[in-house]
Amino acid sequence: MSEEIPLARPVIRAEEEARVLEVLRSGRLSLGPRLAEFEAAFAGRLGVAHASAVSSGTAGLHLALRAAGVSDGDEVVTSPFSFVASANAVVYERATPVFADVDPVTLNLDPAAAAAAVTERTRALLPVHIFGYPADLPALERLGLPIVEDACEALGAVHADGTPVGARGHSAVFAFYANKQITTGEGGMVTTSDAAVKERIDSERNQGRAPDMGWLDHDRLGFNYRLSDVACALGLAQLERLDDLLAGRARVAERYREALAGIEGLTLPCPDADGNRRGWFVFVVQVPRGADRDAVVGALAAAGIQSKPYLPAIHLMTYYRERFGHRPGEFPVCEDVAARSLALPFFPEMTDGQVERVGEALRNALS
Ligand SMILES: *Cc1c(COP(=O)(O)O)cnc(C)c1O
Repeated sequence: MSEEIPLARPVIRAEEEARVLEVLRSGRLSLGPRLAEFEAAFAGRLGVAHASAVSSGTAGLHLALRAAGVSDGDEVVTSPFSFVASANAVVYERATPVFADVDPVTLNLDPAAAAAAVTERTRALLPVHIFGYPADLPALERLGLPIVEDACEALGAVHADGTPVGARGHSAVFAFYANKQITTGEGGMVTTSDAAVKERIDSERNQGRAPDMGWLDHDRLGFNYRLSDVACALGLAQLERLDDLLAGRARVAERYREALAGIEGLTLPCPDADGNRRGWFVFVVQVPRGADRDAVVGALAAAGIQSKPYLPAIHLMTYYRERFGHRPGEFPVCEDVAARSLALPFFPEMTDGQVERVGEALRNALS
């Protein structure tokens, strides 16, 4: 059998190795010079005033929600079609994620559904730029509530008005797990135009310590959500090659459109529309209604191709059903898409031949 095609694979070259080695040899492995350097480079790239590096996207969501004032008994309106971390971060603060259904084309939070879910207890909105496609922020902004953006899948995406995703001034959270557009192994970044938010996040990621305080005095509760200088050095090298990484993913997406053209009933990721531009993260198709997705996963595996149902609906996960009493049927668009969505192998160095192999295997599996 030909070589297995993985779902994802990071691009790590000599520059990454050199940068990491330099930190290892410097003896300053955390809270050293690479932290501020990575933050400044990231903020500069997006054209936003501030960025705070944190230990993961999940940690960033948690701190950004705290900075938005989310706490006990509050409600946060968000998407049920997301990675579970976005809803979990709300629960960490003993607040309730209030789900609203998604748009059937973009798969992002439907602004009308979000508006209908707002109550007097709504403290914030938490839209997710799912699969790297910009959520409709202008419409959500009109609701007049604080917004925390889950941009963990959307580095490189651009809104219709030309603003990069993450640069609208709200807290926006990025993630650097190994399958994301850039990776630090584990890591995340919160961008904001608000200096007070930056100050609070920087303190709370570091046990609540004020920047000018002595070692052991802490004026608020905090966490250890720091990102090491080793990780920041890796992030700096990755950020320098971001344009190439994004172009690689966009190229693979184009090849996929050709390889998958004409498969009856198969839904491909929505093309860019109305001036919005996707920052390619994953290539997720929806198998035709009535097709047996598990059988498709099995057939692809037998052909040496990894694939994964992606994403399951959050409200139907056991924890969310039991804790919040959710039931099937609440969010029909999300549930339909979640039952049919399938992530195919997708990474910048994927070859045309590999894409063709996946296309052929999928075509066979569905015929
Ligand atoms: C990756 C991701 C996160 C954060 O993931 P971490 O593993 O904590 O870095 C959050 N939300 C979405 C939608 C993601 O894809």
